[in-house]
Amino acid sequence: MKLHRTLYIKLILAYLVFFLLSFIIISSVNSRMILADLTRTRAESLYRESRLVATTYGNDIYKGMEARQTALEQLKAIDAYISADIRVIDVDGRQVLDSRSSGDMVFADFDPAAIGSYYLVSNFYDTYDEDYLSVFYPITSRYSVRGYVVIQMPMSDLYASRDRLLSISYITMLFMYLFSLSVLVVFTFAVYRPVRHITKAAEEYARGNYDYDPDVHGRDEIGYLAGTLHYMASEIGRAEDNQKKFIANVSHDFRSPLTSINGYLNAMIDGTIPPEMHEKYLHVVLNETDRLTKLTNGLLELNSLSSKGMVLSISDFDINAAIRQICETFEVLCSEKKISIELILSGEKLFVSADMGKIQQVIANLTDNAIKFSHRNSIIKIETTEKGDMVFVSVKDSGIGIPADAQKLVFDRFYKTDLSRGKDKKGTGLGLAIAREILQAHGQNINVISTEGVGSEFIFTLAKSKNTEDE
Ligand code: ATP
Ligand code: MG
Repeated sequence: MKLHRTLYIKLILAYLVFFLLSFIIISSVNSRMILADLTRTRAESLYRESRLVATTYGNDIYKGMEARQTALEQLKAIDAYISADIRVIDVDGRQVLDSRSSGDMVFADFDPAAIGSYYLVSNFYDTYDEDYLSVFYPITSRYSVRGYVVIQMPMSDLYASRDRLLSISYITMLFMYLFSLSVLVVFTFAVYRPVRHITKAAEEYARGNYDYDPDVHGRDEIGYLAGTLHYMASEIGRAEDNQKKFIANVSHDFRSPLTSINGYLNAMIDGTIPPEMHEKYLHVVLNETDRLTKLTNGLLELNSLSSKGMVLSISDFDINAAIRQICETFEVLCSEKKISIELILSGEKLFVSADMGKIQQVIANLTDNAIKFSHRNSIIKIETTEKGDMVFVSVKDSGIGIPADAQKLVFDRFYKTDLSRGKDKKGTGLGLAIAREILQAHGQNINVISTEGVGSEFIFTLAKSKNTEDE
C-alpha cells in the first residue's frame, strides 16, 4: 500500500482555507461594519451640531437679508471650528446659505423626508467628486418645515480611520495565523512524523523484517505505541524462529529412523540381507518404529501440554509414595545395568498439592534419564526435602554429566548433548521439555546442576499441601 501524504496535505489545505476565509471576512464584513459604525458616530455628532444651528439661527435666516448675513457669519465660524460645510436649503431645494460659497444653487431632487434617515452618504446631487456625509435637521416655523440645515463632511477621513482599524485586524490575524502555524509545526514533529515512522515499521513487519526499529522514542502515547509494536514484532519474529527450528528438528528426527527402516527393508527384499538374518534386522526395524511411535506420542503430548490452559487435576498426595511407586517400574531396567536407586525421603509421608499423574511423569522422565546416562554399577539418589511451604525433589546420578554450555539447552525440545548421542540412540530429546512444561503449568521450577564426567542433579519444586496435619 502506497502511503500518500494525505493527512498532512489536508491539514495544510485547512490552514490555507482558514487563512483565506479570515482574510475575506476581515476585508468585507469587518470593513463594512467598521465603516457603518464610524459613519453613524460621526453622523450623530454632526446631527447635534445641525440641531444647534437650526434652533439657534433657523428663524433668523427667514427674517430678512440682514439677519441672514449675521447668521452666515456665525455659520462660517462654526464651519471653521468643526471643519464641515454648513448649508441651509429650502424645502424646494433652493440653497439659502452656504458657509463655503455664495453662489445660489438649486438641488432639484432635494427631499430629506424621502431619505428615511437623518443622514446620507453620497456625492450630494453631483455637487462633489467624492463621497460626502450629509446630515439634515429641519427648520420649522409655525408647525411646518421651511428648510433644512445640512452639514457635510468628506467621507475620506472616515475611510482613512476605517483603513487604520482594518490594518490592526490584519496584523492581529497575521499573528494568530503564525501562532497556529507553530501548532502545525508541533503537530508535525509530535504526531505526523512518528506516525509515519510507525507506519513504515508496520510495513516492514508485514514484509517479515521483524528487526526493524521504528525509531520513535517519545514518552507519550505514540512513543508507547511504537514500543509496543516493536515488542510485538520481535515476539512474532522469535515465535517464527522457534517454529522453523522446531520443524527442522521434527523432520530431522523423523528422517533418521525412516531412512534406516527403508534401508533394512530394501536390503531384505533385494537379498543383500540373507533370509536367515531377517529376524535380527526385523528387530532393528521394530526398534526404529518404536522410536517413531515414541516421538509421535511425545510430540502430541507436548502439543497438548503447551497449548494454553493445560488442565491440571490438583490434589493433595504423598510425594514419597509416588516416588516409591515410580521406582518399582524401573526395577527391570536398573537390574539390567546393575544400578541401584537410593531414596532419601523427608518424613514418613510428605504431602504436596499438584497433579499426581503429571508429577509422576516428571519423576519418571528424570529417572529414565539418570539410568540412561549412568554407568553400570552406580547409584542414583532420589531425595525429597522440605523448605518453608516448598518441597524440593532431586534426582541425582553419577553418570556422564552435561557440559556447562548445554545445561541451559537440555530443556529445549529435541535437544540432546553430543555426549549422550552415542549412548542413547532411542531418545527423542522431548522428555525434559515435557517435564518443564508440566512444572511451568504448576507454577514451579526445574533446574539442573551438573559436572561433565561426574554426574547430574535435576531439582524441581512443588507446593507443600496446606492441610498436611489433617491427612
Ligand atoms: P527421551 O526422554 O524423549 O527419551 P532424551 O532423554 O534424549 O529423550 P531428554 O530427557 O529431554 O531427552 O533429555 C535431553 C538431553 O539432555 C539428553 O539427550 C541428554 O543429552 C541430556 N541429559 C538429560 N538428562 C541427563 C543426565 N541425567 N545425564 C546426562 N545428560 C542428560
Ligand atoms: Mg529423557
